[in-house]
Amino acid sequence: MRIDVIEVYLARMSLTSPWRAGHGDEAAIESVFVKIVSGKLAGWGESTPFATPTYSPEWAQGVFLMVSRYLAPLLLGDDIHSGKDLQALLSPVKGNYFAKASLDQAWWDLYARLRSEPLWKTLGGKTSTVRVGADFGVKDTIAELLAAVEGAMRAGYLRVKLKYRPGWALEIVEAVRSAFPEGVFHIDCNSTYTLSDLAMFKALDGQRLAMIEQPLMYDDLLDHAALQRELNTPICLDESVTSAAKARKAIALKSCGWINIKPGRVGGLTNALEIHDLCLEAGMPCWVGGMLESSLGAHQCLALATLPNFTYPNDISPSEKYYKSDLSDPPIILSGISEITAPDTPGCGAEPNPRRLREACIAQEIIAR
Ligand code: MG
Repeated sequence: MRIDVIEVYLARMSLTSPWRAGHGDEAAIESVFVKIVSGKLAGWGESTPFATPTYSPEWAQGVFLMVSRYLAPLLLGDDIHSGKDLQALLSPVKGNYFAKASLDQAWWDLYARLRSEPLWKTLGGKTSTVRVGADFGVKDTIAELLAAVEGAMRAGYLRVKLKYRPGWALEIVEAVRSAFPEGVFHIDCNSTYTLSDLAMFKALDGQRLAMIEQPLMYDDLLDHAALQRELNTPICLDESVTSAAKARKAIALKSCGWINIKPGRVGGLTNALEIHDLCLEAGMPCWVGGMLESSLGAHQCLALATLPNFTYPNDISPSEKYYKSDLSDPPIILSGISEITAPDTPGCGAEPNPRRLREACIAQEIIAR
């Protein structure tokens, strides 16, 4: 299909409460929305790298400029038949995965709409309902965390993820494990530690965690392999895997036992599918992570999570957990205990609410032929 117009929006979305993790604290989420138009049809994509380059080297205002000035013009007027075609057109620009993802995801939404089928089926999903977990950022007190975890356990969540960072570390895992001896838990360090913290990781090894997510530097594979050799608990890589090439190296180096795939971090759904298939072939299980996207980005993560190698409950949360009023419609809601169902409408099933996008918009560009 030929792309005639690309609209790019930078929006700031207020959170119900600050999101606190190893990479830093977020009071609001900055997200880039892209609409691509082909004839009478349009598709939407969303990429959420956060407002500052603290999770990865990319940040929302940079992504907005990158898409508007460099990437969108590369796609105009071309006949693009597949996600691989689109990625090839973007390939002169190195890296910039979140920026590429916004266009890639909009293309997939448009492509599914063109085929009049739900995105989860276009991507190759087998069943529309996926399992999801609960996750909790850094709290003020351990008592507050225990109350939150208890709420999640009572609601029937199949697993709970805990953000973990210096000052909010071993003591929280010990408290949670002793309060809930049978719970499935894992921690996410968001790149805050080094190999010099080996003794702490050895102590964690006795806590029967399902995995330890991204303990070491954001782009590292070698040190993770060294740490994995010392631990029984599997490592899960998030930040370090930005492409299929990095996934292949992580598998070859035995840097991890799991990969958390986020479409934004890896340049979009095209690359997410490739990493999924690579992991399946290598016998490495995956799950889908999130970046606190609006319901549009979350629906695209949901469609991806319907693929068969996503075997651990995914990080897709009901909209109300983060937002008083989600920028996109419809909001994400649970369809059952610890599960969410992807809609059967054409495309990903969600798009920005025009009024709320207008109110949250900081900058916009329209790129046309
Ligand atoms: Mg993570």
